[in-house]
Amino acid sequence: SEGTGRFIVGGNWKCNGDRASVTALIEALNGGDVGDNVDVVVAPPFLYVDQALSELKSPMQVAAQNAWVEYTLEDETHHYDSDSGAFTGEVSAEMLEDMGVPWVILGHSERRTLLGEDDTMVGKKVAHARFHGLSVIVCVGESLEQREAGATMDVIFKQLRAVADEIDDREHSSWGSQVVIAYEPIWAIGTGKVATPEQVQAVHAGIRQWLKDNVSEEVSKATRIQYGGSVNEGNCETLARESDIDGFLVGGASLDATKFAQICKSS
Ligand code: PGA
Repeated sequence: SEGTGRFIVGGNWKCNGDRASVTALIEALNGGDVGDNVDVVVAPPFLYVDQALSELKSPMQVAAQNAWVEYTLEDETHHYDSDSGAFTGEVSAEMLEDMGVPWVILGHSERRTLLGEDDTMVGKKVAHARFHGLSVIVCVGESLEQREAGATMDVIFKQLRAVADEIDDREHSSWGSQVVIAYEPIWAIGTGKVATPEQVQAVHAGIRQWLKDNVSEEVSKATRIQYGGSVNEGNCETLARESDIDGFLVGGASLDATKFAQICKSS
């Protein structure tokens, strides 16, 4: 990476673990060494977020894997002043702010495909999370079918447009160091089929150019772009050499403290 921001590695635990394994993983992470000069963000399932907040040591920070925003109503005041209400099973950005959770992952492809989150909803979630002062990792990426059809950049630009439209509308919200973009090709997630450094660099350069053309040059330089999809301790160093790869979002390998620490140090 040659970007202006610090390298940033996220560990997305997804829906894994139990009380014992989460406690052991936090202990192992605290006992390891993630290196200096890197932002490390760990995302446990909601039930373990509070434990991670109190037990994970600096420099590791905590993220939620999702946050609710009411987006079907037309009333903007309702959207942004409070997102509490009759939304059974959801956790709001407001609650994350209240608990002191600094980060949230939004728009992960598993939520987009399994739970039907569309581009607009993700855009609103990002703006809303920023309104509550949360730093955001927003995920974008194409399916294999879309890549084979040559639609990769179109899909990603549409996902980015939905974010840009919402953020630009809200003066309280902003791009820059607090909105990280994670490029995660769906075909590479959990498959062991990592994208090549050339494939990733090409997409990241395209995202950076899009930010320059559609947001600002300043934002395009300040925005960190992570790669996610089968990143492990063996492939991270080669990927990290690419100029527009500013970090990783790690699923499977983040459940192993030793592997995760190696990935954190790969910059
Ligand atoms: P993976 O997941 O590292 O297990 O491929 C990445 C992600 O979904 O964030």
